[in-house]
Amino acid sequence: MKGIFSEECKRTACSNKNAIFYNYSTQKFYCEKCAFRINQVNPEAQKLFGHQLCINVSQLKIIITDLYPMFKGIKELDIMNASNFSIFCHGMFSGGISMHIRNLYKLWDPKSPYHTYFKKEYKINHPDEMSGVITYAIWLKHRNLL
Ligand SMILES: [Zn+2]
Repeated sequence: MKGIFSEECKRTACSNKNAIFYNYSTQKFYCEKCAFRINQVNPEAQKLFGHQLCINVSQLKIIITDLYPMFKGIKELDIMNASNFSIFCHGMFSGGISMHIRNLYKLWDPKSPYHTYFKKEYKINHPDEMSGVITYAIWLKHRNLL
């Protein structure tokens, strides 16, 4: 199917397989070649999302698959918008979800493969931004958007 993770690229004119680049705007998956071109013509994404529009999310998908069960029964995930949910996760009322995630994946540690992944693909350096990408991804997964 087109635009599904690891399947065919979403772009109509393209039939490349292994679409692992997630477009944060269309919320569909693209091949590396199309993702590169889409990123080139959408520089404003940096302001909107804090990173490029299309990102290789293969590692992120593994992380959120691991973490998702931890969010079972957290009603804020259902009722809050993505932005407020991220703030909730950062705050103490969640029991420190974001801090737990940063510790679990050693996001502050340059030797951690997860730190390396976020630095390379998202071009972000701060562990708070990395855990923000993860909690947003959880919010998207909960809605079958990622
Ligand atoms: Zn493509």
